[in-house]
Amino acid sequence: MQHSCAIAIVRVDENIDAKEGGATLESSTFRSVKGRKIKSFLFGNGGPTALVIGGIHGDEEPGVELAEELINYLSANQSVDSQGRVVVMPVANPDGLAVGTRVNARGIDINRNFPTKDFGTGYLGKNCYSGKSAASEPETVAILEMVSQFRPRIITAFHSELGCVNFDGPALKVAEMISKANGLPVRKELGYKTPGSLGTYYGVEQHKPVITLELLPEDEQWRRHKTAILMMIDLLVSSAKTPVKLVYNWDWKMPGRA
Ligand SMILES: [Zn+2]
Repeated sequence: MQHSCAIAIVRVDENIDAKEGGATLESSTFRSVKGRKIKSFLFGNGGPTALVIGGIHGDEEPGVELAEELINYLSANQSVDSQGRVVVMPVANPDGLAVGTRVNARGIDINRNFPTKDFGTGYLGKNCYSGKSAASEPETVAILEMVSQFRPRIITAFHSELGCVNFDGPALKVAEMISKANGLPVRKELGYKTPGSLGTYYGVEQHKPVITLELLPEDEQWRRHKTAILMMIDLLVSSAKTPVKLVYNWDWKMPGRA
């Protein structure tokens, strides 16, 4: 199977404090409640940007794994030109990931803490507490600032484990394309309201395409989702008009987990 991917790598930074050529990603200032770094990885020089976020919920490891594998893939597959940018934040809630909780270290659900019009309404019980005020959590602020810095044309968040392609804003076509490639059904509604969620804030209220990819609890996330994710990136980049072909195959390796 062949697929094109037009993202060139400018800078991949395991240590976000290092400044090694290319664009500078000032995400060292982003820290969790407990002071853990919230790292981001930048691929590409500029142009239309995709922001990919894993680990908003710390007990949803498949999304972290998938984001890390995307980073590994983009690190290893450079193309000769760059027409777009991918920014990957693999672990938005590192404190939650460290102890296996959905919520952050203050017991707040980051995906209910965004400053939506309906913030603080709906079900706010255990594990879905919004916090007293919107954007009160540093993890939420990290995402908000990344979006305002990079102005992504599409935002994708990895969650688990509903096994579907959920979307907000003008993302039906992209969701359908992803669904075709990964075999998971498109679901516009998840059956419950999500006030204060990333999808509500950027998708419903700001009309940006937001994909919430609900993974299945299975091994080898990358194998299922690779084509879908790279197609999404290509679609974004082809809107920059000069596609660059890059062949990949199905060989892949598990990333090291820092
Ligand atoms: Zn989740």
